[in-house]
Amino acid sequence: MPPIDLRSDTVTRPTAGMRRAMADAEVGDDVLDGDPTARRLEAMVAERLGKERALFFPTGTMANQAAIWVLSSPGTELLIDANAHIVEWEMAGVAALAGVQIRHVRTRGSTVQASDLTPYTIVTDPEAAQPSLVSVENTHNTAGGVVTPLAELRAIGDTAHAANLAFHLDGARLWNASAATGTSLADFAACADTVMVSFSKGLGAPVGAALAGSNEVIGRALRARKRFGGGMRQSGIIAAGALYGLEHHLARLPEDHANARTLASHVDGIAGAKVVPPDTNIVMIDLPSARADAIKARAKELGLFVSAWTPTRIRVVTHIDAQAEVIAKAGPILSRVLEEVLN
Ligand SMILES: *Cc1c(COP(=O)(O)O)cnc(C)c1O
Repeated sequence: MPPIDLRSDTVTRPTAGMRRAMADAEVGDDVLDGDPTARRLEAMVAERLGKERALFFPTGTMANQAAIWVLSSPGTELLIDANAHIVEWEMAGVAALAGVQIRHVRTRGSTVQASDLTPYTIVTDPEAAQPSLVSVENTHNTAGGVVTPLAELRAIGDTAHAANLAFHLDGARLWNASAATGTSLADFAACADTVMVSFSKGLGAPVGAALAGSNEVIGRALRARKRFGGGMRQSGIIAAGALYGLEHHLARLPEDHANARTLASHVDGIAGAKVVPPDTNIVMIDLPSARADAIKARAKELGLFVSAWTPTRIRVVTHIDAQAEVIAKAGPILSRVLEEVLN
């Protein structure tokens, strides 16, 4: 049996249909004349997100960085939770590139709520650092694929805008938030000035992301993209994979969520392990002792790849390359490993 890789939803390989779409894509030099397939993708993303314009990026990281660069000014603060992708995994880019300081918003739950934000938005002391924008992740990766529901996201956007702050939504997995709640992508996106969506997570494309917003903001993001080294020539080859994912894989995300619930039910309570009930496709397993590395190593011996997220937390992620019949095998392997290692 080939190994089952549940370390991330980024490990997926393009399907045969996606590879054909990429091979057959109509392309042009996007920096010179424009690439027709990248334009088609951008139009589709703008339409689905209900924004004036979307711009194709090589990565979600670059799109997030471009958004922060455009919406902030150097020497101001970005209000964001301490576990956000932008804080943990983007090489302090907001400090290095946009010149902003990160202000960690203390949260009562596992994600930011509007009421958590309020104390940070109004700065009356003229000698205190001033915020310029807010960023929220939906779904939230480190929290365990947690959805911020529409009413809360609206309240966050309203709180930011009432204080004259811009609002960026890191929606790498906004597809999952929409699939899990039935809330449209456009309703979520309407809360924020800029929205990043990723094609290389749940949609199964090999690479790519988009940033959506107003014509004015995305026009400036285009210049940021070029400055950051993201002007891509025949980008239609990869845009075609993203388009294919939108057209053919978006609708199957509820399967990933059902598979995550199946996995959770296999392991919750085993030898003291506690699962964060999955909203979407990410399952976080909290351990009673710091044995994550040992669990990861033993699972690997049995052909199952998982992430040791922290010493006391295992992360498993469901995706298009591990469908129900594979998950049916992964659940018992993982519960066996937890029993062996934790008992
Ligand atoms: C993966 C991810 C990103 C970055 O996307 P890349 O395309 O891998 O650069 C940003 N934010 C979140 C929440 C992510 O999960």
